Amino acid sequence: MHPTPRDYPEARGGCQCGAVRFTISAGPADYGLCHCRMCQRATGNAFAPLFGVAADRITWQGAPREWASSSVAARGFCPTCGTPLYYRDAEEIEIMAGCFSPDFRPEPQFEAGIESRLGWLDDMIHRFRFATEPELVARVISYQAKED
Ligand SMILES: [Zn+2]
Ligand SMILES: [Zn+2]
Repeated sequence: MHPTPRDYPEARGGCQCGAVRFTISAGPADYGLCHCRMCQRATGNAFAPLFGVAADRITWQGAPREWASSSVAARGFCPTCGTPLYYRDAEEIEIMAGCFSPDFRPEPQFEAGIESRLGWLDDMIHRFRFATEPELVARVISYQAKED
């Protein structure tokens, strides 16, 4: 179903609070956006950016919790802060790519679950855009864990 996996360098990331972190060894991965209803609900988002690798290529620090979302898959999340971390089935773990460190920003190869894809995604280029306001950044104390 998926396009041919690409090779990627070692990648690291973690949840928002830092209680769960991971390292993925260098090697092949398939990276796609999933628009299915299960991924929309599991992330509270328009789609899930899923970076799929063999489970034995991931080294964990801290223990994610899982919820079986179907008879064939589970969703991993941080038990402390609730950050959605991955989708897992018998073949692989698909990491939520928003959890990667900022130095690793791969481009997705494909889109899946398009029966539920939101039409307004095609118009994103036309949306009003602005950066996080410096005044806000200066005033707010972030509790988010430091990134690698
Ligand atoms: Zn956390
Ligand atoms: Zn999905």
